[in-house]
Amino acid sequence: MRVSFLLLAGTGLALSGCVGRTSTSVKNAAVSSKKPGKSGTATQSSPPLLKPKPGAKFSKNGLAVLTWHRIAERPDQYTVTPPAKFADELAFLHEEGANVMRLEDAVRMVKAGQPLPERAVALGFDDGFKSCYTEVFPLLKRYNWPATLYIYPDWISTGAGALTWDELKEMQKSGLVDVQSHTMGHPDLVRMRPKHGMNYEQRLRHELFDSKKTIETKLGTKVTQLAYPYGFYNKHIMAETQKAGYDSAWTVNAAPFRARFGKGETWMSLPRYLIYRNTKIDRFTRYAFGKPLDVSRAYPAANSTITNPVPTISVRIDEAVDPRSVQMRLAIIQKVNAKYNPKTRVLSYTPMEELREGTWTVSISARDKKGQQKTAAWAFVIKSPDSAATLDSPNATP
Ligand SMILES: [Zn+2]
Repeated sequence: MRVSFLLLAGTGLALSGCVGRTSTSVKNAAVSSKKPGKSGTATQSSPPLLKPKPGAKFSKNGLAVLTWHRIAERPDQYTVTPPAKFADELAFLHEEGANVMRLEDAVRMVKAGQPLPERAVALGFDDGFKSCYTEVFPLLKRYNWPATLYIYPDWISTGAGALTWDELKEMQKSGLVDVQSHTMGHPDLVRMRPKHGMNYEQRLRHELFDSKKTIETKLGTKVTQLAYPYGFYNKHIMAETQKAGYDSAWTVNAAPFRARFGKGETWMSLPRYLIYRNTKIDRFTRYAFGKPLDVSRAYPAANSTITNPVPTISVRIDEAVDPRSVQMRLAIIQKVNAKYNPKTRVLSYTPMEELREGTWTVSISARDKKGQQKTAAWAFVIKSPDSAATLDSPNATP
């Protein structure tokens, strides 16, 4: 089966500078011919406070700190995200107009009482895996996006899986990568035992102070943030973290970072979203942009498997939107000529040719009556009747 279908490349509604994608899930499909994002243009080692994009609206939704670990093909580990999926996730953020910010800038803005832009997102990577250099850094350069790496110095430069100090320096020099602390040796700070002749309190200080000092000495920059290993912390640890000189410390409590803190949140216990290999696009959308566009009756249903390679993809938009703003994209970057009927509120699209077997992502975006852009996204699978015959429930819905 072959795919290629009509695209509205470069017409009317702005596709804000489509970048090429590294995923192989859409072969031979025509994509809009806009240029890739500039790469390697950021040269300052300490970029100035990032201003919101011109025209960006200020949001009460706050900022989503999206956090990955390792980017690699490792189907056995849930924390490892395959490179094609990761590339899709960044492409999705780009196509949906995410305002990707340095987390440190966002912290400064909130502390200074400045509002964060709408659709604000920060990218985080825990542990210091080599894939930050091999898989993540090239994409950051391509999009010219900043990211924060939380590393634990005991592991750096110790083997093939870990980043080296030289790689960290190179990334930091680009102006795109901030390096922050993930403690010295990545223990569970709540339950760790005395080690190397240090009692608990001494070890806690070692993990907090020495990691900060080591990174600052090795890289010549100031460390202001801590990510708690495994997200474990308590009141005492928060107090010691503050004493060690951190401005902010980050958990894995799934919520947006907002000027108005949620329950239990302090500067020493701020929320982040972990992205796993099985984090699906609908959830990713909620994490990144908050409340999704209110839709129902999606066909093909979310996470279902169908055998028809030319399905009419449709969805009902359940909230009032500007009809001219409604758009559908297939396979993340391909804007398709979907028809929206404002009376029935149904948006539908039938491909001109067969879609290939595999997973297809549909994303819908529209502006609500307040002018706020909203997004909904889901994925379905196409299988040929032969291979689908072996499935237990070919039309399963979530
Ligand atoms: Zn970790």
